[in-house]
Amino acid sequence: MERTTPFPSRRGILAGAALAAVPSALLSGTPADARPQAVDHPGAAWHPASRSNYTPSNRPRAHPLHYVIIHVAQTTYSGTVSVFRNPSKKVSAHYVVRSSDGHVAQCVRESDIAWHAGNWDYNTRSIGIEHEGWVGRPGYFTDAMYERSARLTAAICARYGIPRNRAHIIGHHEVPGSDHTDPGRHWDWKRYLRLVKSA
Ligand SMILES: [Zn+2]
Repeated sequence: MERTTPFPSRRGILAGAALAAVPSALLSGTPADARPQAVDHPGAAWHPASRSNYTPSNRPRAHPLHYVIIHVAQTTYSGTVSVFRNPSKKVSAHYVVRSSDGHVAQCVRESDIAWHAGNWDYNTRSIGIEHEGWVGRPGYFTDAMYERSARLTAAICARYGIPRNRAHIIGHHEVPGSDHTDPGRHWDWKRYLRLVKSA
């Protein structure tokens, strides 16, 4: 459903300098599953972050991937996607998971370095997943969100040989130097790891 909705700022994207870098298939409005090169995770919708908000790379060659970092966005799904699209924000994550149905947006290619950890070393070695909602509002952490996010994390771990454990699937608050608290005390790590391992 999401993928049939035009981007509100598509005109801005088309007018931007990033146009030359966008494959024409992305601009044609074809369904996500008809453009297999656009996303790394099957079923994800491509909502590209501004080119000003991440660092192009060729991971895992340039940097081996060691971590999946779990975030809670402190805003809505659409708010998160639009922050990443805003070139003045200087922030991004690879994925955003929607609360209501677990729908997944990909905003940065996995080969590129998203700016989400607040620590350059961890940024270079991780994939960042944002979740719609607020750390203090556990109602946003739905079954659908846990399940789809866990499947995404499991697939990332399989792609890069990342162990499916708490030493490698970490919260933003566990990144050295981070002053963030997400995903917070309501995030059910036991359940999440169980889902990742059984995905
Ligand atoms: Zn975070």
